[in-house]
Amino acid sequence: MHYWRKSALAVAMLALPAAAQAQQAIDAEYTAKIKEHLQDPRITTELVDHLPASATVPTPLKFHGRIVGTPGELTYAKDIHRYFEALAKASPRAKYWTIGKTEEGRDMVVLAIADSATIANLDKYKGDIAALTDPRKTTEAEAKRLIGTTKPMYWLTSGIHSPETGGPEMLQELAYRLIVQESPYIQAIRNNIITFITPVIEVDGREKHVDTYYYNKTLPAGAARLPLMYWGKYVAHDNNRDGMGQFLSLTKNVNDFYLAWKPQVMHDLHESVTYLYSSTGTGPYNDAIDPITVTEWWTFAQEDVREMTKRGVPGVWTYGFYDGWTPNYMFFVAHTKNAIGRFYEVQSYGPDNYEVRPPATTTSREWFRPNPPLSYIKWGPRNNTNIQQSAVLISLKHFADNKANYLENYWIKNKRAMEKGKTGAGPYAWVIPAAQRRKADAADAVNELRKQGLEIHVAAAAYKAGNVSVQPGDWVVRGDQPFRTLADMYFSIQNYTPQNPRPYDDTGWTFQFMRNVAVLPVMEQSILTVAMNPVIDKVRAAGGIDGTGAVLLVDHTTDNNLMKFRTAFATTKMHAAEASFEAAGRTFRAGAFIIPAGDRAKIEASLKELGITAQAVATVPTVKMHELDLPRIGYAHAWQRTQDEGWVRAALDTYGVPYNYFGDIELRKGNLRAKYDVIIYPHVGGSAQSHIAGIIKNGDTPLPYKKSPKTPNLGANDSAEDIRGGLGIEGLTELYKFVQAGGTLIVEGSTSTIFPAYNLTNGVTIESPSQLFARGTILRGVVADRKSPIAYGFDAQLPVYFNQDPVMNVGGSAGVFAGVGSGSGAAAMMQNTTPNANPLRLSTWSWNMSDSTGTPMPVAAGRPAAAGGAPAGRGGTGGAGAFGGAASIDGTRPRVIMQFPANAADMLLSGTLAGGEALQNRAQLIDAPLGKGHVVMFAIRPFWRWQTQGTYFLGFNAILNWNDLDAGR
Ligand SMILES: [Zn+2]
Repeated sequence: MHYWRKSALAVAMLALPAAAQAQQAIDAEYTAKIKEHLQDPRITTELVDHLPASATVPTPLKFHGRIVGTPGELTYAKDIHRYFEALAKASPRAKYWTIGKTEEGRDMVVLAIADSATIANLDKYKGDIAALTDPRKTTEAEAKRLIGTTKPMYWLTSGIHSPETGGPEMLQELAYRLIVQESPYIQAIRNNIITFITPVIEVDGREKHVDTYYYNKTLPAGAARLPLMYWGKYVAHDNNRDGMGQFLSLTKNVNDFYLAWKPQVMHDLHESVTYLYSSTGTGPYNDAIDPITVTEWWTFAQEDVREMTKRGVPGVWTYGFYDGWTPNYMFFVAHTKNAIGRFYEVQSYGPDNYEVRPPATTTSREWFRPNPPLSYIKWGPRNNTNIQQSAVLISLKHFADNKANYLENYWIKNKRAMEKGKTGAGPYAWVIPAAQRRKADAADAVNELRKQGLEIHVAAAAYKAGNVSVQPGDWVVRGDQPFRTLADMYFSIQNYTPQNPRPYDDTGWTFQFMRNVAVLPVMEQSILTVAMNPVIDKVRAAGGIDGTGAVLLVDHTTDNNLMKFRTAFATTKMHAAEASFEAAGRTFRAGAFIIPAGDRAKIEASLKELGITAQAVATVPTVKMHELDLPRIGYAHAWQRTQDEGWVRAALDTYGVPYNYFGDIELRKGNLRAKYDVIIYPHVGGSAQSHIAGIIKNGDTPLPYKKSPKTPNLGANDSAEDIRGGLGIEGLTELYKFVQAGGTLIVEGSTSTIFPAYNLTNGVTIESPSQLFARGTILRGVVADRKSPIAYGFDAQLPVYFNQDPVMNVGGSAGVFAGVGSGSGAAAMMQNTTPNANPLRLSTWSWNMSDSTGTPMPVAAGRPAAAGGAPAGRGGTGGAGAFGGAASIDGTRPRVIMQFPANAADMLLSGTLAGGEALQNRAQLIDAPLGKGHVVMFAIRPFWRWQTQGTYFLGFNAILNWNDLDAGR
């Protein structure tokens, strides 16, 4: 019955355009194959059940020798790109160009499609949209004219997640159809809007995935399958969490293209759910997004659900899946510019045919899923092609039919954003002081914000309003610019109450906290009248050499460029002061670099370039010091998961830290101390035991990861004849021997749990508090041992990124908090339709509070000391002896360098937290001595997603002081 109704409807709908369709011949061979490969007749529409013929434009069948949706076949990105290029060569309705390179040197591309007159005049439309973007330059009358005459732009992207293969395949057929088909439906799209298509965002990963798929097809049944190891050079699935950091080439290329054209919609195609999810999310939605955008998400999604349901296609739904809170996804590049970001999640392409038997939680009829997926269906790549191509066409048609409406919304959003900072609620500006302590990183932050589209000025006069005083040279982010939305989004403080739906990703991201730089909001309108000039080029902090004398002193500011400076002069002797000292009328902190001699001219040029200031003095100060000798670094990755460790490599590569990169199985070969001084083994995910096991060894057939004639794209970062077996007990033993013999092992996140799990580090325990909820959040870090070289340069406190675990305890009070609940766990179970009405209590953070004297955070009088015995507020005074009661200085005791505050109420700076009592006085960073060496264990994540620049130097300090970590004990 279901099917019958759809057919009747389809016939009715085709009645009108039949004449137009009749004039255009159908490609009979292609159309027959669509029917042949479709696994279920319900997963189609009149939009995609045929393909028009063309005498001049090649179909995918003609070009590749197979139709889109052919089972058992995948197309390399380079061939998809060749096809797109051929389309543009064959038709004046398309234009093709490259938009940048990947880290591995492959092209990223775009194909623009519209009627031929529009394609010939693309720059005119680019100018029209730029005018609608900027109400400072465009009058209301001109805007009205443009809204009525110009064409909006819709950018389709896919292939960011390499195992999600259908989007890039489907987009080939869609491109052909949009160029060739003469039906009124397609003409309405082609003549009214400009469609951009970037079929593959993660080009490096696509090629590896296609290699891996075809390689696995050659293996005998039952043999272990090769997993997709690396995608891009740095990360895997996290490539879609780079929207804020924008470290990866793919994100930079997308951002640059976006800023050049400013499309009103960015629509990213993914695969993961049954059968098609059109994004809206559960909320809470990101506060900085204009309410108009929120309604536009819903309008698009409901159009998809209704039109697909009308055509009898089951399983198209919205709501759920994600929240709409965190701005780290690719399509937020559009949201920060007042445009619309959307995505689909589609039932997997395969590419082999398969069956889908979803659970009742997926097939029940709900308000957001009025026509739910079926309890059983035969699925295949053609089903995937049909369902997402139909939905995309419905979206494009809706956009074309309502183009003036969407252009007007876009204009209004840009205007409202600008007015917010001109006459509205503010802030009217944000000031980034140029002379702040971490001035080089502040300059970096300015450059990063500019690259992402924020206009920045430099103050030409002094100004004071409220608590903010501006000096000439300070950077000013004016609030009266349309893209201030980006500033609102990045600089705001997040308050994600745990009563909300479970967050999809991080809950806190406050830019200035993560980077530990001062960004000061100004609530006085008069800031807009201060003399200032636009920043038009890359900025750098003031740097160079002050004074005269042979000896150079560089204070330790924790500016990350200090690491670049140290590695750039690897053969120049540099020392670290072990205590603060006075010289040339200035105070230098413990950790300050002391350089007795060196190539002065070269050093000065480098300091200027890096924005670092050195003080020249006549003689070496008398302070106690040790040499900052650069270690030989081994960098171990796990073969079972290469998703996260790349963020650590990103920091090392950027700041010039050399290392040898190898898989966990190499550690088993031993002799590590002879080869390395430091071994870095970043977070993998999973339990300590899973690190030991790795990819399970089943049978004798090795699982190679390498370049070969069959797999030309594999083996890019690392290769191995057999990637199975993990660290193994042998590898763990060798790591233990390495540390015993004087090596320094640096671990973070899950790898921090390995030594404690096997009782190899004295007195460190890992806890699993059931009531704790701390999802990707920014908490207060208290430096408990400021004499440790790992803390050199840092203030008494700093914001840190923490994500639920590990919870590390030193001193054996494990289990004390096991029964402590905050009450919010129970609250989360209650029916609550207005969760944001109950905000969390955030702890305040100010840049003046975290001063160099070690003043602890304010703690309310009368608060009980935590059970661990450390009095509240002890953080700044130093002394590992606070932990576990034993006050003696014992060379084998783990040293707690950083910890969570003593009181849960002081922890949360931005994001979410419930059950924080479980973190009271727990360690954030431990230096555990072991034999002659050290294990440096991070519970926080110092190198998270190119966002936590403020904590990079905790890791860099551990590297630079690797053989002097006992200093200050
Ligand atoms: Zn995805």
